[in-house]
Parts: sequence; C-alpha cells; structure tokens
Amino acid sequence: PVRLRVAPSPTGDPHVGTAYMSMFDLAFARQQGGKFILRIEDTDRVRFQEDSEQQIFDTLHWLGLNWDEGPDLGGPFEPYRQSERLGTYKPYADKLVAEGHAYNCWCSSERLAEMRDMQQKTKQPTGYDRMCYGKTREERAELPGFSDKPVVRMLVPDDVQLTFTDLIRGQVSAPRPDDQVIVKADGFPTYHLAVVVDDHEMGITHVVRGEEWISSTPKHILLYQWLGLPMPHFAHMPLLRDEKKAKISKRKSPWARLTWFKERGYLPEALINFLALLGYPPIIESDGSEREIFTFAEFTERFDWSKVNAVGPIFNLEKLTWLNGHYIRELELDDLCARLLPHLQHDGVLSEQPSADDLARLKRIGELIQTRITLLTDATALVAPFYLDDAALEVADDARKQLKDGAPQVLDAATAVLEPISDSVGASDGAQWTAERIEAVLRETLVEGLGIKPRLAFGPLRTAVSGQKISPPLFESMEILGKESTLARLHGLRA
Ligand code: ATP
Ligand code: GLU
Repeated sequence: PVRLRVAPSPTGDPHVGTAYMSMFDLAFARQQGGKFILRIEDTDRVRFQEDSEQQIFDTLHWLGLNWDEGPDLGGPFEPYRQSERLGTYKPYADKLVAEGHAYNCWCSSERLAEMRDMQQKTKQPTGYDRMCYGKTREERAELPGFSDKPVVRMLVPDDVQLTFTDLIRGQVSAPRPDDQVIVKADGFPTYHLAVVVDDHEMGITHVVRGEEWISSTPKHILLYQWLGLPMPHFAHMPLLRDEKKAKISKRKSPWARLTWFKERGYLPEALINFLALLGYPPIIESDGSEREIFTFAEFTERFDWSKVNAVGPIFNLEKLTWLNGHYIRELELDDLCARLLPHLQHDGVLSEQPSADDLARLKRIGELIQTRITLLTDATALVAPFYLDDAALEVADDARKQLKDGAPQVLDAATAVLEPISDSVGASDGAQWTAERIEAVLRETLVEGLGIKPRLAFGPLRTAVSGQKISPPLFESMEILGKESTLARLHGLRA
C-alpha cells in the first residue's frame, strides 16, 4: 500500500502550499487505500515558532485534510517530529563518513564567505572548494579559518546522476549539487539527510513536494544510493503564482497564509475545490461539458498524477471568492448559521453564549442573507443592525446621504400606517406583522397614495431600520425586527 506524507516546517503561519500538497497526497493515498502521514520538520531551530505546529494541525483539520499518523496521533513509526528523532540520523551520517561518501569540514563561516567572494570575483564556479577533504582534524587546524565544531559534507562525485523521473513532469534534470552539508555544527541533521532517513524509516512510497525542491532531489538520490535504500517515487508540484507570475510567498501575499482564509470567512470546501482546480483539469461530463465544481471525493476518485499541471497556476482570488459564494448558497440553513456564528461572535455582534432567541433570529436573518454574501465575514454588516438596541443604531455616512428632503414625510406616513398593524401572530383581524402586510400598506400609502417614487419612499426606511445603505430586504427585515423596534427606529431617525 502507498504511503505519502506532508512535511511542513513549523516556521510560522502555515503556507497555503502545505494544504495544496496535502490535498494531492491525501487524494492519492485514499484512492489507493494507503496512508497519509504528517511529519513535522523542526530541525531549523532558528526559524522555529512555538505555536506554528498547532496552527498546522488546526488549519489542515479545518480543511478536512486528516492524516492517519502524526505527532498528535502517534503511529507505528513515531515519533513524527524530527527534533525527537535526532538519535535516528547519527548512524546514517556515521556510515556515510566511514564509507568515504561524506567528510568532516571545519571551515569557519568567515572562511566560507571569503571563499565565495573570491570565486565570484575571479568568476570561478561557486561551491565548496574541499579544503578539508582528506585532512585529519590536526592537519586542518594548522590552516586558517578553522572552526572547532565540524559539519559533515557529502562528497558529490563527478558522475552524479542529475536526471530522474517525476510523476508529473516525466524526465527532469537538475543542476549539479555542491558538497552539501548533511550534519550541522550543532549536531542536527540538515533537511537533506533528515528527509531521506525519515522517508525511508517511515516507509514513504511517494514524495510529493513543491517544485523548488527539484534541485535537491539529486542529492537525495545520492543518499539513497550510498545508503543502499530503495528509492521512492517523486512528484514535484508546480508552485502557486500571483497575477505577476511570481511565486506567492507569505511575505508578499496575505493569502499565502492558511489562517487568512479561515479568518476571512472562506469555506473549507470552496478552498479545497479551488486548490484542486489550480493543479488539476475540471471534470469532463459525459456530454463533453466541463464541470468546475466538485467534491474532494469526486477529485479522489478520478485522481491521476499524469493529469496534474506542470506549469505554476495563477492564484486567482476572485475565482475563489466566486466559488465561495456558490458553496455558501448550497449550505443548509442550520449549517450556514453554525458557520456564521464564530465570525459574528468575533466581530462582537453576538455574545459567546447567545440566547435561544438570538439564535432563532439568526436563522431568520440567515435565510435573508444567504444569497447576498460571498464570504462569511460579509454577514457582519448585514446582521449587526438586528442585534443592536434601537437607541444604539448609528446611521452610516453613506446611508445618511440617501436621506432626501422628503424623508420626514415618509417616516411619518410610514409610522402612521404601520402603527395599527397587530403584532401578534394569528390576530383575529388577520392583520399581522408580516413582510407581505408591511409591504402592502407601505406601497399603498407611500407610492400609490402620496405618489413618492419607490426609491425615495423606501430609502429612508431602510436607513432608519438598518443604519446602512445596503441591507437585507426591507420588509422582511422589519418583520424580523418586530413592530416595536421598527417603530422605535423610524421614530429615532425622525427625532
Ligand atoms: P517566505 O514568505 O519567507 O518567502 P514562503 O512563503 O516562500 O516564505 P516557505 O516557508 O519558504 O514559504 O515554504 C513553506 C512551504 O510552502 C514549503 O513546503 C513550500 O514548498 C511551500 N510553498 C512556498 N511557496 C509556495 C507556492 N508559491 N506554492 C506552493 N507551495 C509553496
Ligand atoms: N520541510 C520541507 C518543507 O517545508 C519539506 C519538503 C519536502 O516535502 O521534502 O518544504
């Protein structure tokens, strides 16, 4: 059975690329009845960030990209954090040195910098000049630029294999590697040694990672060969690009951070569908038409490495937002409200412990706004007025501009006809506080009776009720607010 892993480094907010890789890993693992593993590559202690690992767990779970083995779940090859596996790497490094494939290097960082400067000035090929190769510690200590704690370097042979087969790209060639450091002066393995040892020890059959690692693969192939280990398959995913075709990075684009999508109110199913479309063609239906909207299960079912894009796709946020609107409209009402709730709480519209009445009201509002939002966070402005005390409602500047000279007349006339409507459901005269009834009396009085244009008649009412220029449909909003609040708000604007 196949075994695939994603191996993020906990160096900050998780990258959208981590979800992108995980998704392809998981699709293939599930299709083949194999396993998906999460390994935390935390050997870079300089860039390590404490809360990053938890964010990786949370964002991948949020997306439904669930692993079978990992630091939190354990598994047959635990531990799954490289910092807890330091003892594992040493025997491999020792074997490489003992067999002459790797050597100690005592060059200080100053000496290496000087060497690079010199190579650049004299236009020589760059790379380590092997000053330490073949020397004992004592011999090397006689020479300048000696550092007490050695690193271990690979002795890359002249005939190093530079081409390999990639599941997505076919035959790939990479530049000749330098004598790469595999053990740092602090005794920690570098990425190159750790990744090969762990992928082997954890039985990984398919290594899926970003295309920026293509140049590392010949180093890894050498290590597999020297250590006599079976080679996994490699797939290098194209990097996601921005509109200017530059690779998206956390420094430049907020949407390179996975938590950004969650905070902005994107649905995980929309982001998954979008990421799949970035790397994979749409579904071709039996009538030949293309379908861009599909579930992860549909993606898994038809997944095939040979169909993955080899060219870096453009991360088109507008497309994602469009997809998000689609997925929001598809949600069951209760589900929509459950997803809106944390955002409304975060934005202070609802408390941490909302009452049953508040939740019942949210359901009625949810129905009104479902087709009017594309992000969950769009709901805040639309929903907030329904939960404000009437006296606390403030009129936004752009809404105030809508109040024309005739506004007082409109507010007075509306108050007069709304006042007599019975607020209790099932009142004997049938005159109930419903959107239809409210609309009927307002149209009859304001538009037909007073001859006011609908825009001028209902604009001031909308402003009075919501304080906003844009709000959910007016009559339904009045119904939800109730008679008392509606009249208080009309009165409040009049005062
Ligand atoms: P920085 O903001 O420091 O440039 P970065 O955004 O390039 O960082 P890294 O920390 O270098 O991100 O990479 C984190 C992970 O995300 C790596 O596994 C890398 O392969 C992946 N990754 C980085 N950029 C992209 C991208 N544009 N598309 C897909 N995956 C990416
Ligand atoms: N830790 C590496 C990263 O974050 C893993 C690369 C790989 O998958 O080999 O990109």
